[in-house]
Amino acid sequence: MNLHLRQLIDLSHIDKAIDAFEPQIEEANYKFEAALAKKKSIDSDIESLGNEIRDEEIKKKKNEIHLGELSQKLADNSKKSNEVKTEREMKSLQLEEEIAKEQVTFANEEIERLERIIDLKTSQIESAKKVLEELDANLASIKAEVDEKLEVINKSRQDVFVKKEKLISEMNQKGLAFYQKIRRWAKNSTVVPVEEQACMGCHMHISDKVYADVIKAEEITTCPHCGRILYVETDKE
Ligand SMILES: [Zn+2]
Repeated sequence: MNLHLRQLIDLSHIDKAIDAFEPQIEEANYKFEAALAKKKSIDSDIESLGNEIRDEEIKKKKNEIHLGELSQKLADNSKKSNEVKTEREMKSLQLEEEIAKEQVTFANEEIERLERIIDLKTSQIESAKKVLEELDANLASIKAEVDEKLEVINKSRQDVFVKKEKLISEMNQKGLAFYQKIRRWAKNSTVVPVEEQACMGCHMHISDKVYADVIKAEEITTCPHCGRILYVETDKE
């Protein structure tokens, strides 16, 4: 086999191996990123619960102020009732008093309801904080595990880079430029095998003449349909 063709096949395998590291790196990072995302989501849950509690407390405060006003009104009414002169005034005072008492009942019920909501949300914050604590404790070990995986990946990636540099230094620059030009669009299928007389890049059938050239492998042959570099896999592959 032509040496330049051999080198191009090797280079295409090395480039494919380099690309295969990316998903491995992503996968290794995924676990840590998922844990971070969960932490972030719990943090934001705690923040919203805190804001909701503040809102409920403002509502509770308003009801308490209203209760104060109502009790003042009831006290005033009771003073006035000693001074009423007519039946009509009396009735009007009684009506006011009834309304004020109803409002007192309502405000008390509302305060109780708000307190229940505040208690519930407070306990939700507490359990979220507990989950967060556990997560924080695990985060360090997840990070260590991920770093360890990444180190192994980077080590083998480094080995492949060294191989690539060595190969490129031995290659003819014209052939390399030709390969890189095709690789820009063909990516990892720049150099493809021929199977059953078809290009494995575009899957088109190639003529007997081109096929014979590929088998001879005396020079670099490209697919007449798509322009990828062709070779026939031998037992050595
Ligand atoms: Zn083709």
